[in-house]
Amino acid sequence: MAAPTFDRIHPMHCPFCSAHDTKVIDSRLVAEGDQVRRRRECLACGERFTTFETAELVMPRLIKSDGSRQPFDEQKLRAGMQRALEKRPVSVERLEAAIAHIKHQLRATGEREIKSRVLGELVMAELQKLDEVAYIRFASVYRRFQDLNEFREEIERLSREPAKPE
Ligand SMILES: [Zn+2]
Repeated sequence: MAAPTFDRIHPMHCPFCSAHDTKVIDSRLVAEGDQVRRRRECLACGERFTTFETAELVMPRLIKSDGSRQPFDEQKLRAGMQRALEKRPVSVERLEAAIAHIKHQLRATGEREIKSRVLGELVMAELQKLDEVAYIRFASVYRRFQDLNEFREEIERLSREPAKPE
């Protein structure tokens, strides 16, 4: 029997029994990474169905070290990486490709929430490929804060202070 396909209007409801609890069985990117096709199984009635979810909606939320949740924020991610890459010989195109790769990996987890530390590790892996100095800059601060937001706030604080003569 062919499984029904549903648009993401009420994606978390089972279309058979309307239960909220569904489990992702399979998750793959389609339409050049803009959508995720998911096979879900209802935990109440056991029926399986397919959803097509758009990228914005399926970016997992971040669980911070204090347990609070925040939405993924691409601008914050970009700002943190740009700061690490400041005055380094890395093109905007390569930075954008790295950001796209990070987002791709986050979506591909199929998770609705991930630890912010996971994102930090993905960022470090990308920076290591882009530029060793940027990687060390980011990692040395990040490993201390273990939180991308705190890292960004710290960088903003530092950037407000007058630059020391070199
Ligand atoms: Zn069901």
